[in-house]
Amino acid sequence: MESPLILLKDIDTPNLTSIDVYEKLGGYQSLKKAFQHQPEEIVEMVKASGLRGRGGAGFPTGLKWSFLAKDVFPRYLCCNADESEPGTCKDRELLMKNPHMLIEGMILCSYACRINTAYNYLRGEFWELADVFDKAVEEAYARGYLGKNIMGSGFDLEMHSHLGAGAYICGEESALLTSLEGCRGEPRLKPPFPAVEGLYSKPTVVNNVETLCAVPFIFNNGPEAYSAIGTEKSKGTKLVSVSGHVNKPGNYEVPMGTPTRDIIDKWAGGMRNGNKLKAFIPGGSSVPMLPADKVDVPYDYESLMEAGSMLGSGALIVMDETVNVVEETLRLTYFYMHESCGKCTPCREGTRWMHQILSQILTKQGQPNQVDLLNDICDNMAFKCFCPLGDAAVGPVASSIQYFREDYEALIESMKTADSVG
Ligand code: NAD
Repeated sequence: MESPLILLKDIDTPNLTSIDVYEKLGGYQSLKKAFQHQPEEIVEMVKASGLRGRGGAGFPTGLKWSFLAKDVFPRYLCCNADESEPGTCKDRELLMKNPHMLIEGMILCSYACRINTAYNYLRGEFWELADVFDKAVEEAYARGYLGKNIMGSGFDLEMHSHLGAGAYICGEESALLTSLEGCRGEPRLKPPFPAVEGLYSKPTVVNNVETLCAVPFIFNNGPEAYSAIGTEKSKGTKLVSVSGHVNKPGNYEVPMGTPTRDIIDKWAGGMRNGNKLKAFIPGGSSVPMLPADKVDVPYDYESLMEAGSMLGSGALIVMDETVNVVEETLRLTYFYMHESCGKCTPCREGTRWMHQILSQILTKQGQPNQVDLLNDICDNMAFKCFCPLGDAAVGPVASSIQYFREDYEALIESMKTADSVG
């Protein structure tokens, strides 16, 4: 399928992780040009491109950079490579195959924001990717793209990687920073946002891998080239991790605004075994699932929001007619119960309670009032938890009841029938 590739353009080039290959493809050429600009000009360029955070929230990247507390130094960049959202595996591919693109993006961001120390925080399970990244960083130091007085510009930048310990909560930016400081990874209250008080209480940019990887293209081709792709408010391309009941699961780069149906049918090879689509989760497990009749929704921030879900981290989980939605919801709820950090009561207790009820319904021990009880728990968790993990746990449960209540009722009904036969 044709697509204006930016992030995956060279991804299958042999030995792309080597700096020689990356440079031959034009890599690191943006730096010389960048150092001829004032840092603020680069921030303006990123603002003009319309790039928004690809971790999930879609916050405008240039605006985030411009929010750094004025005249407070040192400042830090933390790349969020803690990709853990169920269904999401796009950053993994970039890290594995094109680490220099990320490093180049991190250097541009650091220069633009007057940052001299940058970290890449990788999820614990990404230890092999940390090796790939570290080797690429070493090469970049050796070529003079990192370290003191980079390319004679007077700009210094040190870059380090840090492996987490495999906790989903550490993808939440404030928990990530707490973990990077060497403490137990638990979220902090926001505001203050990291831009004002982040790592070691200093102004910090936290950006996702995919976000930072888009910056060299914007700089090399101009913000207009990026903003020409996509919709009015959702610019550029998006990496979509397509999983589930499709013929060709994988990471695809699509222009923002592509109909979700096209992503499934044209990029991901259509539904497995010619089965019918039942439901899809457009943006990773934290966002509401949608029924098949919404599959024409354009894949962009605004349209998905209007359709009752979110673009989130860009993980499109496709479920065919064979899926029991209650079972799927139970699996996701187990994930949130397991990953809840336990800091706040609604999330700690709510995820466990929802899991307990869903297990009862699925094993045909449910009571008719339990569907309403689940909804009630959702109401008491949504926007009442300390951080977005609790809200995320509500997404699959509330939406599965909204659209597939009959799956719940069929299980409860079958229990009543079994009882009366017994
Ligand atoms: P958020 O809306 O609170 O913040 C988004 C970003 O904008 C943050 O970096 C925040 O610091 C910044 N920001 C917002 N307002 C600001 C202000 N006034 N001043 C300065 N900075 C400001 O969202 P979030 O909690 O960071 O992220 C939630 C999203 O994370 C969810 O939508 C979900 O899709 C996604 N998520 C992704 C993964 C993954 O693996 N990629 C995992 C879990 C969740």
